[in-house]
Amino acid sequence: MANPLTPDVLVDPVELTRALVDIESVSRDEKVIADCVEDVLRRAGHLTVERLGHTVMGRTDLGRAQRVILAGHLDTVPINDNWPSTVVDDLIYGCGTSDMKSGVAIALHLATTLPDPAYDVTYLFYEAEEIESEFNGLKLVADSRPEWLRAEFAVLLEPTYGVVEAGCQGTVSALVRTHGRRAHTARAWRGENAIHAAGEVLRRLEGYHPRTVTIDGCTYREGLNAVRINGGIAGNVVPDECSVEVNLRFAPDRSEQQAHEHLREVFQGFDLEIVDSAPGALPGLNATAAREFLTAVGVEPAAKLGWTDVARFAALGIPAMNYGPGDPSLAHAPDEHVEIGQIRDGAATLHRWLAG
Ligand SMILES: [Zn+2]
Repeated sequence: MANPLTPDVLVDPVELTRALVDIESVSRDEKVIADCVEDVLRRAGHLTVERLGHTVMGRTDLGRAQRVILAGHLDTVPINDNWPSTVVDDLIYGCGTSDMKSGVAIALHLATTLPDPAYDVTYLFYEAEEIESEFNGLKLVADSRPEWLRAEFAVLLEPTYGVVEAGCQGTVSALVRTHGRRAHTARAWRGENAIHAAGEVLRRLEGYHPRTVTIDGCTYREGLNAVRINGGIAGNVVPDECSVEVNLRFAPDRSEQQAHEHLREVFQGFDLEIVDSAPGALPGLNATAAREFLTAVGVEPAAKLGWTDVARFAALGIPAMNYGPGDPSLAHAPDEHVEIGQIRDGAATLHRWLAG
């Protein structure tokens, strides 16, 4: 197959968005798109290019004082009768237009057309963001090629509709268990009802006041919720076990460990088991490259409330932000689309920043 990412296409981030969307790349099927991306990065001539699985890294080595990363995932969620792309007025429709081939297009356009940026730049195009974390290309790079991620600052081009989202909240899921004694309901006094005991768990949740925390001007709103409840044996049995699954979303001024301790405090006296957790990420707005990036974009950053791959950079000590042309509310939707104007604005902004 001839590479559809021709030089004519690479110079225009809008055409490039369409071309990338039209290379199908549902998670675990990124070989073709990764081959095309690797090919154009190698042809550019000014980049050092390496590949791990279907994750491709291209970087400048100009000896600049600072290095920044531009990263985007190559995969999409499954196609939903929305492929290949179509254009209606100022909108490009199709699977991956918003999340996040328009962002990838901007990064690839800059990688191939800006040979002399003011920072050294590492461009990362990675596989398998939309599925289980064990396959995540960025995670695999962090595990086995951590030297690729050496940088002062990173921008993830996930859809934010041109807004800068800084840091992200962490998440913990835990089971709060209550215990009792089984008995026949006809002789209930012999038993102890574990579901009734869960009432106290729910009362603590009801009385819980989540914090609102402002860090570097970004406001994070925490939340603690029961998300599932399990208990009961039969219509005539006093149950001896009940569990309430709770989910805490926590601001990045708490470490993962502190978030666990906080949950243990809230549910003191109960049997609590952490079943899943991921740290948040501080906004990290003080790095020089981050400040210069914010100046170039010219908007105040907002807090990211969901968990994103930004936290993977934070775990390596690299401040990272989300900034992309797509509308996040359209990600994964059948009518997913991106505004052509947003792609042009995003490309011009990042060009201005990187060109110094
Ligand atoms: Zn995405």
